[in-house]
Amino acid sequence: MAVRYDGKVAVVTGAGGGLGKAYALMFASRGAKVVVNDLGGSATGDGNNSRAADAVVDEIKRGGGQAVANYDSVEFGDKIIQTAIDAFGRVDILINNAGILRDISFSKMTDKDWDLIMLVHLKGSFSCTKAAWPYMQKQQYGRIINTASAAGLYGSFGQTNYAAAKLGLLGFTRALALEGAKRNIKANCIAPLAGTRMTQTVMPQEIVDALKPEFVAPLVGFLCHDSCEDSGQMFEVGAGWIAKLRWQRTEGAFFNAGFSPDDVKSQWGTISDFTRVQYPETTQDSMVAVMSRLDEMKSGK
Ligand code: NAD
Repeated sequence: MAVRYDGKVAVVTGAGGGLGKAYALMFASRGAKVVVNDLGGSATGDGNNSRAADAVVDEIKRGGGQAVANYDSVEFGDKIIQTAIDAFGRVDILINNAGILRDISFSKMTDKDWDLIMLVHLKGSFSCTKAAWPYMQKQQYGRIINTASAAGLYGSFGQTNYAAAKLGLLGFTRALALEGAKRNIKANCIAPLAGTRMTQTVMPQEIVDALKPEFVAPLVGFLCHDSCEDSGQMFEVGAGWIAKLRWQRTEGAFFNAGFSPDDVKSQWGTISDFTRVQYPETTQDSMVAVMSRLDEMKSGK
């Protein structure tokens, strides 16, 4: 059985170009009705233009698919979701993809550089999800993708704002997945790598051309299909490679009450020793070591 989305409505933000366009074309070619959202501004978040979204809608329609454009900024998620409701009566899939960069070293970063990145990436994803959520809850079905970045997972020089927002989206996704579980709403997070307007200033043209957004779209497609059970997960994806990430921590070291920075120093090797590791999957898992040490301390160990 082919992976298809017949009867489903997909909203893709920032779908006028780059990765979002690839997602919109992929969903439409497999039966979804698509809302192509794009503000049509510059890569640093200035200006707006309806042309980018219109061109993608035209391309979908020429291919026999169904799509409508929306030109609102993602900070006004209610207007974007309303476009889906007005045109198609529902929203099943939401791809929080729109993004900008305001790269600059931290010492030179202004409040505007920080706030604009938070507004588009974090507030934008919140706003669109918040507007789609009641529909997804009511229909007991929803698939949400949030877009993180290797910059957030690993850090990136000149991107303290972007890295903070992007890793924030992983926390958002994991909490959202827990809250959506009962109503069959699944949320996952991706860190893509693709040649787009966003990366063409930092990568050689040859690599930009080779790293096609179409190589990221199949993961987004599967994660948004009925048959995918994953939720709250994090994936890295680019070219012909897809991998899942999880947290890993050392077994850690235990201390007696009254321990000092000198004790921490003496145990630093054990604290940092990744030869024996744990993979906590939930906040509860993460607390087991602390709680067990607390019990031991109470009983005088
Ligand atoms: P892109 O610049 O080609 O696409 C981003 C789109 O978002 C643009 O069409 C832009 O007009 C739109 N947009 C920007 N602000 C908006 C707003 N406020 N409201 C609505 N639309 C808005 O870049 P891309 O590489 O396709 O990026 C897509 C997403 O993937 C972004 O969230 C980006 O941070 C993320 N990402 C990309 C890469 C990569 O390698 N390309 C790596 C990591 C993360």
